Amino acid sequence: MSAARLPLIVGVGEDGLLIPIRRAQRGLKCKCVCPACGARLSAKRGKIKAHHFAHYRVEECAGAVETALHRFAKAVLHHHPKIVLPPVYARGVKRAIEPVRRFAYRRTTEEAGVKGFVADVVLYGASRLIVELKVSHAVDPYKQRVFIRSGIRSVEIDVLAIFKELVQEHRAADTKELARRIINFGGREHGLDVHGHWLFHPAQHQAEYRRRQAAALLKVRHSEWKDRHHYRTIGCPCPERQRFTRGDNWQRAYAKTYQDCAGCPHLVELVHDFAWVGYQWVPVRLAGVRCGFASSNERLPIN
Ligand SMILES: [Zn+2]
Repeated sequence: MSAARLPLIVGVGEDGLLIPIRRAQRGLKCKCVCPACGARLSAKRGKIKAHHFAHYRVEECAGAVETALHRFAKAVLHHHPKIVLPPVYARGVKRAIEPVRRFAYRRTTEEAGVKGFVADVVLYGASRLIVELKVSHAVDPYKQRVFIRSGIRSVEIDVLAIFKELVQEHRAADTKELARRIINFGGREHGLDVHGHWLFHPAQHQAEYRRRQAAALLKVRHSEWKDRHHYRTIGCPCPERQRFTRGDNWQRAYAKTYQDCAGCPHLVELVHDFAWVGYQWVPVRLAGVRCGFASSNERLPIN
């Protein structure tokens, strides 16, 4: 379902404030304009189709729903004192580092400049929290890197996914519920998905950094045998995966890198040799495996 086919559920009133469809008067009496193109809107509140705004005598513009959702979500954050944040996970670690948490804030700034970038909303509570609202496209990797460098906690709320969920439940016009789900986006309630994630959290960053630091760097050896290429991780410590050459000798334990290590829960990183190709460094050949077995398990063989 593309955003273009989703219903428009908020318009902009004469005073410049948002008016949800459930509070609008029927037809042109709603005196609303489109938040994207500024065309007059007519409130369709019939008995058959779901209530929505339609452009009056002009074609529906492309960005109306996205702009409306974006503005609506910003208003929701502005008018609430608390937000539910999702649990924090580190890559490769099953248990959450931090559970679902409420974040109370006193003040919000919209379209705030952060290190040369514009953040959708910044919440000020015990600390600063950047909130990015996903209505059409996600935060690009470059922008995310800026957030990481800045060290400020930042989350992305997938407002579009939350709205689509409501549309599928045939309650698109229920802006109250939409607001509630935006505020509670981080908690998994009534089997609803968590629509959003952490872009940067210092605890996650620390845990991943420590895990990588504690990981052992194992060498990967390449060989050709029977016309096939073989990649072996030398000195694999996991008892479930390790294979042996000639007898039960820990020194010679190995794992098949692609078969065993690539899907192994202890894998921290595949280390590659790099080559300068097409004006950028690209990974070409597997050179090693960073194995987190040592940091995650006490049963480490001596070698
Ligand atoms: Zn429009």
